Amino acid sequence: MNAPDSNDPQLLAGLIGQLNVGLFVLDPEFRLRLWNRFMELNSGRSAAEVLGRVIFDLFPEVDEPWLRKKVETVFQIGGYAFTSANQRPYLLRFDHHRPVTGGIDYMRQDCTFLPLQGPDGRIAHVGVSIVDVTDKIISEVQREEALARLGDISIRDGLTGIFNRRQLERSLEAEVSRVRRYGGELSVVMFDIDHFKQINDSYGHRAGDEVIQAVVGYTCGVLRQPDIAGRYGGEEFTLILPETGAQGAMVVSERLRETLERADIHVGGQSLGVTVSVGLSSFRADVADHEALLDEADRALYRAKSDGRNRVVMYRPANP
Ligand code: GH3
Ligand code: MG
Ligand code: MG
Repeated sequence: MNAPDSNDPQLLAGLIGQLNVGLFVLDPEFRLRLWNRFMELNSGRSAAEVLGRVIFDLFPEVDEPWLRKKVETVFQIGGYAFTSANQRPYLLRFDHHRPVTGGIDYMRQDCTFLPLQGPDGRIAHVGVSIVDVTDKIISEVQREEALARLGDISIRDGLTGIFNRRQLERSLEAEVSRVRRYGGELSVVMFDIDHFKQINDSYGHRAGDEVIQAVVGYTCGVLRQPDIAGRYGGEEFTLILPETGAQGAMVVSERLRETLERADIHVGGQSLGVTVSVGLSSFRADVADHEALLDEADRALYRAKSDGRNRVVMYRPANP
């Protein structure tokens, strides 16, 4: 048996037909001169339908100025050109037939533009190959999302999305050193939901979680942009109020207390009320560090509880 002739048109057609890569050829007028099976399957248009026709008339989604420039450069310079799906998601809009998409709408395509010489040695056609890189892009997107989530998981509380205790303490440490160095004001507020055990006992732990989420929602509504909220423990929260002195912190705390007292929190079709006790302390030069400031706010909170709950108590250094 003879070795196959590498110029045998049937052999080449068989090869091109079975490639799992899109291949098409354009002439200088952008008419299609070859359209392989991959292109037929993904575009839903047969070679018989498209050959001899201008690609822009067939596929209006193609970015005409961009493709013209790309192909004309290959005609003029005679070198390869390439576009990756990261720069330009696709040349032709094809479905990708994948169930898990990570937000990827259409088939992502890496495209190569190949100069094809005519008999006179000049570039007579440009071949274009399309490789489906959707899976690669989906996994890249998923990896990036997972990394972003990991970064977030380490600083945020999973139930409420506000800062966790560690991040809160870090932020407070940074704020304390900032006011110590540059001056200005800083207050810390701690609050705890009153008789929360009763909510858990009456409505269940899941309902308790929803109450915690609702309390955080209302709390964020009371805060200004530079303020920082964190979940310090189970149903105990801390606010860092930069550029806020004792008076301002008192106003914020009172507003928070009132807002929650008035709030209608709906859990499992029932409406229930909550109150919070609030303690606060403001930075002074004699405060040793951020832990001491937190401790003062915590002592004020303890006082708010023992004084009858649903109230705000400010830490007073002379009369703690
Ligand atoms: P007090 O007015 O003195 O604060 O009374 P309390 O019942 O709220 O008492 P305390 O703050 O000591 O108890 C908090 C309870 O909150 C205990 C715990 O079972 C519950 N808890 C802590 N974390 C969570 C949570 O993430 N979800 C739910 N549902 N409950 C929690
Ligand atoms: Mg409590
Ligand atoms: Mg508590």
